[in-house]
Amino acid sequence: MKKGNTKPVLTGASLGLSGGLILFFSELLAIYAHTEIDVRTYVFFLLLFLVTGTLGGALLGIFLNFLRNKFSSTKIVAENANFFPASFLASIYFLYGFYYINQILTPGMGMVQPVSLAANLLFAIFILVMFLVASGYPSSSKGAVRTFVESSLLPLGLLVALNVRLFIWQPPQTQTRELFFGVLGFGLAGVLGILISRTAAKLLANRPAFSLIFNGVLTLFALYAFSLSGPPSASSFQIHPPANLTMMHPPNPKNVIWIVMDTARRDQISAYGGEPDRTPKIDAFAEGALVMNRAISSAPWTIPSHASMFTGMFPSKHGADRNVPGGKFTNPLVSENLTIAEILQSYGYDTACMAANVAGLSRNFGFDQGFNYYFDARPIAYYLLFGRVLVSLPQKFKANLLRLNEISLSSEINGIVFDWLKQRNPDVPFFLFINYMEPHDGVEYIPEPFYSMSGFKKSEYDRVMENLDQTKVVHFQQEVTPEQQEMFVKLLARRVYFLDYHIGKLLNKLREMELFDEALIIITSDHGDLNGEHHSFGHNTDLYNELIWVPLMVRYPGASKVGFSDQAVQNIDIMPEILNCLGIEIPQEVQGQPFEEVNHDIIAELFEQKKAQALLNPERYYRDLRAIYTKVNDDTLKYIWCSNGHDEMFDMLTDQNELNNIVPLKPEVVKHLEKRLDDWLKSFKPIGSDESGKMKFTKEVEERLRSLGYLK
Ligand SMILES: [Zn+2]
Repeated sequence: MKKGNTKPVLTGASLGLSGGLILFFSELLAIYAHTEIDVRTYVFFLLLFLVTGTLGGALLGIFLNFLRNKFSSTKIVAENANFFPASFLASIYFLYGFYYINQILTPGMGMVQPVSLAANLLFAIFILVMFLVASGYPSSSKGAVRTFVESSLLPLGLLVALNVRLFIWQPPQTQTRELFFGVLGFGLAGVLGILISRTAAKLLANRPAFSLIFNGVLTLFALYAFSLSGPPSASSFQIHPPANLTMMHPPNPKNVIWIVMDTARRDQISAYGGEPDRTPKIDAFAEGALVMNRAISSAPWTIPSHASMFTGMFPSKHGADRNVPGGKFTNPLVSENLTIAEILQSYGYDTACMAANVAGLSRNFGFDQGFNYYFDARPIAYYLLFGRVLVSLPQKFKANLLRLNEISLSSEINGIVFDWLKQRNPDVPFFLFINYMEPHDGVEYIPEPFYSMSGFKKSEYDRVMENLDQTKVVHFQQEVTPEQQEMFVKLLARRVYFLDYHIGKLLNKLREMELFDEALIIITSDHGDLNGEHHSFGHNTDLYNELIWVPLMVRYPGASKVGFSDQAVQNIDIMPEILNCLGIEIPQEVQGQPFEEVNHDIIAELFEQKKAQALLNPERYYRDLRAIYTKVNDDTLKYIWCSNGHDEMFDMLTDQNELNNIVPLKPEVVKHLEKRLDDWLKSFKPIGSDESGKMKFTKEVEERLRSLGYLK
């Protein structure tokens, strides 16, 4: 290295080091306050910020020195000692702002959209102004590091405080208006911060002690402003109930806590005869609960299944599903539907939903109806400020470099639930709906000791799965080996155990708060998952038992009903069961029934999958399915009608794994069941449909679909 280069490299590196430290502590505060993240993540962030800050600063030093030599006649560069800190500051703001605008505020839009272009332009202008102001900042005798710290502290503090309000606790779907406010606030904070600190520095010139106190006070102010923003449960996800609501008083106002373990299969729960000791907390809960042995979901994926739970109706009736006749793409749960949250809200209940499955349960799909509080954001760690910029790069090369999920873990959801429980009015009964997501794809990184449970090693997993080609499997050209099957189970068992542990924590919290005994508590799942059974993966594609036969246990106030029940029920029956228990009348439109009265057909539906897994094997998956479990004469049968003619029928007494299609053996029964499904479908009209049965879209729904990009 040439001698003339040493000073700028050192200067740049120390600037970067200071910057890295400031960033790290801002981020640390953000995540420490609100999440349960293991120590290694903190250490990783510290190193990441310091290393990238130091290296980046040094590189910037070399680059700027090069510029200085090249354009030594340029006014700004030649004379100004503040050029380094100003550049560094500007580049930090630029990097972060650019990333935020293009990745987070306008996800998937990139830079081509006019609104995004305008946002970027506005942002660039602010950066330029900031740079010019900062580089004209009067130099102090202590040199560049101090100048940098002085010029960055206040705007950074303001930026952090501003971000909390404008960005971090915002729901994931950001609107255009918010985008502009974000950019505007961002730029304004920067310019304002530099102007203020510049004026302050003039006043404090040659008074280092005052300068130190001044900066100290500013830092404290910024941190205080930041902490005032509070956790997300404080206000940001609060939804205000309609003002004209007339409150009624429920005859039996018990608290209701409804837990959905998204994508949990029945055989993952030890109480149902799965591997022993996989779910000790849930098993203990089951001992004081009514355990439904034959609970069938109305659909094999999140949106229609949750809509069925919320409305007590089948997908064909509530309409929140893919390609329902007359519908387009995935329909939201239209506001004409009456949900359990709306009913309980009208009875004066405080209603809250905390959903880890933000893709399915986004408020944009209309699931927030009736909730006073609706949490559908990504984990806090996902919203790290500078961290996201720095993390996204190495993650492109090594996905598991940082063990952060884009989906909230049950530990994080619990944090929000506990906050909410603490701040609620204890005199008002509540309805709390919680969706946990560990069993679902995408939650790969759980903290230790859970991650390495049963000796799980990622390298071993990769080795066993190396030759598994899912495309071949779904085309019946490859079988999933027993070793691979075992690996699937092992992979999942750790996550289910982690979930079980945190469900245990929630139940303990309820006991601690003396809310457990008298509450109505439901634990269930929305659907299951396939690991190569039936030559299929994931959910969304079939109606086999692995996908729709779900765990369902209900703990009644005072544990008034316990034991196993073989009564066949569905997820549409949970809502009427709750209303019945609270002494509230069940609305006429509801198709489900209280458990003891269930005499409706047990039916599940799936509408054609043009996207999702169907891409793997369109010939197989481009079809609608409808399944009915029934008794015909002495048989207990399950018939799956298929729109492309590949009907299947299985004997549920001898073939619960559905390997033996008996359609050819019983043509008469098939005909009878097909007609029964037909008659059932004709017996009702979709909610929110017009006379011809077509879905009509209200303005609000169209707006929703448009915001999701479904309508142009
Ligand atoms: Zn789901």
